Amino acid sequence: MTDPHLVVPSNPTPNGDLHLGHIAGPYLGADVLRRAARARGDDAAVLLGTAWQNSHVLQTARRQGREYLDLAAENARRIEESFAAAGIGYDVMLRHGDIPDIERATRTAFARLRATGAVTVRDASAWYCVECDDWRFQGYVEGRCPYCDSGDAYGVDCEGCGQYHDDAELRDARCATCGTAAVLRPLRRAFLDLEPQREWFERYLAEATLGPPVRAFASAALDRPLPSIAVTFVGEVGFPVGDHRLYPAFELAPRYAVMVARWRAGAMPVKATSSMVFGSDNAWERVLLFPAVLRGLRTGADDDPPLPSVLHMSHFYLLDGAKFSTSRGHVVGVRETVAAHGLDTTRLYLAVTRPESAPTNFSRAAVAGSPQARAVSALERWTSVPHAWTSSPPATVGLDHVMAAAADLDRALRPEDLSCVRAADAVVRLAAAAGTTDTTVRTAALHCLVNGAGALIPETAERLRAAFDVPVVAFEGPPDV
Ligand SMILES: [Zn+2]
Ligand SMILES: [Zn+2]
Repeated sequence: MTDPHLVVPSNPTPNGDLHLGHIAGPYLGADVLRRAARARGDDAAVLLGTAWQNSHVLQTARRQGREYLDLAAENARRIEESFAAAGIGYDVMLRHGDIPDIERATRTAFARLRATGAVTVRDASAWYCVECDDWRFQGYVEGRCPYCDSGDAYGVDCEGCGQYHDDAELRDARCATCGTAAVLRPLRRAFLDLEPQREWFERYLAEATLGPPVRAFASAALDRPLPSIAVTFVGEVGFPVGDHRLYPAFELAPRYAVMVARWRAGAMPVKATSSMVFGSDNAWERVLLFPAVLRGLRTGADDDPPLPSVLHMSHFYLLDGAKFSTSRGHVVGVRETVAAHGLDTTRLYLAVTRPESAPTNFSRAAVAGSPQARAVSALERWTSVPHAWTSSPPATVGLDHVMAAAADLDRALRPEDLSCVRAADAVVRLAAAAGTTDTTVRTAALHCLVNGAGALIPETAERLRAAFDVPVVAFEGPPDV
C-alpha cells in the first residue's frame, strides 16, 4: 500500500451553483483519482472548500442586496447538492466555521514570508475609478492582457493565457461597475517576489509530475522573470493587514494546510502525497503562488502539509462554442443533465470530452446518441436481463483487446498519468468486449468494468457486480486469467 494520496481540486466559487463546465474540469478529475486509488486498495481523499472570499461573490451579493457570506453559504449548499448529483465525493469541505483557523494559518504564512524577506512592501501603482471614487482590483477592473492581448483579463488575472500580470500592466483598464476608463494611482503594498526563488521553482517544477498543459504553462512562466505577486490590495473581502487586505489567492495554501489538518483530524501525522487538479484560469495561483506561500507554512515537521507532487490543469469547457458563464446564464446544470441522461452516461460523456489538451465543447444534442451513452445502456440492459447476455450480437474481440484496454484504463487512472479522456475510451472498449460469447474474454472484461471502470461509471459497475457476481479485487491493470 502506498502513502495516502490527497487530491486538491480548485475551490468552487459560491456566486452560483456548479455547472457542467466545472464538473468536466477539476471535479471529475479529482473524483476519478479518488475512486481509482481506492479501487487499487490505496487510501485517497479529496480536500475541498468553496472560495467564499471572492470578489465575484461580493459583486453578486451587492446586486442582490445581501450579505456576502449568507449568499456564499446558500450557494455552497447548492454546490454540494450538485457534487452529490454528479457522484463527486470528497472527504473535507471547509465551511465558514473554519474561518478562524484559515485566518491563523494565513497570518502565520504572511508573517513568516515577511520575516524571510520573500514578501516586501514597496511603492507601486494600481487602478482607480474617478467616477466611482474607489480603487479597482480583481473583478472590479477589466481590460486586455499585456502578454496574450486577450480581452478576457481583469485585475491580475487573464483567462486567455493564465499568466500573472501586475495590476498596472492591464491594458485599456476600465471600471467593471461604471465602464469608465480607470486611472493609475500610486499605492504602497506588499509583494511576494518569486524571481529570487527561481532556483527553488526550477527544481520543484522539474521534480513534480506536470500534466502537459501545466508543463507548457510552467515553461512559459520560467522563460521570463518570475512575477512579483501583489499580496495586499484595497477592498472588502480578505483578511485585513493594516488598512489593506490580503488577496484571497494568498489564502489558498493556508486553506490547504487547514484541509490537511481536518483530514488528519488529530490522528498521528502520516506521510502523504498530494495532487492538484485545477482549471487554466487558476494556473498562476496554483503553479506559482501556492507553492511559494506553502513554503512559508512548512517547517520541516512531520505534520507539514505535503508539497503537491502532481499538477494537472484542464482548459475551458465550452457550451455551444462559448464559455460557460454563471453571470450571463450561459450554463447547463448538473442535476438537469444527470436527470436527462443518467449518472453514468453523464460522467462518461464528460470524461471523454474533458478539455485536457485544449478547450472542448459540450453539445446537449450529442449526449444521447454518443458511443458513451450506447455503452452504458448496453451494459445496463445486460444487468437487467443477464440470461439474455449471449443473445446480443456477439463482439468479435479477443483477450488481447481486453488486456490492452485494461492497461490503458489503469494508466489513465494513476495520478501521474491522469486522463479521463483515455480512461473513458478504455471503458467503451471494455464494454464492447463484455458483449462477446467467449467466456474467458467476457470474464476478464467484467472484472475490469466492475473493479476499474467504477471510477467513471460507479452505478453500472455496481449493477454488473451484483448481476454477474463479480469478485471485488484491487484493480491494477490487466487481470490474471
Ligand atoms: Zn493573457
Ligand atoms: Zn467606476
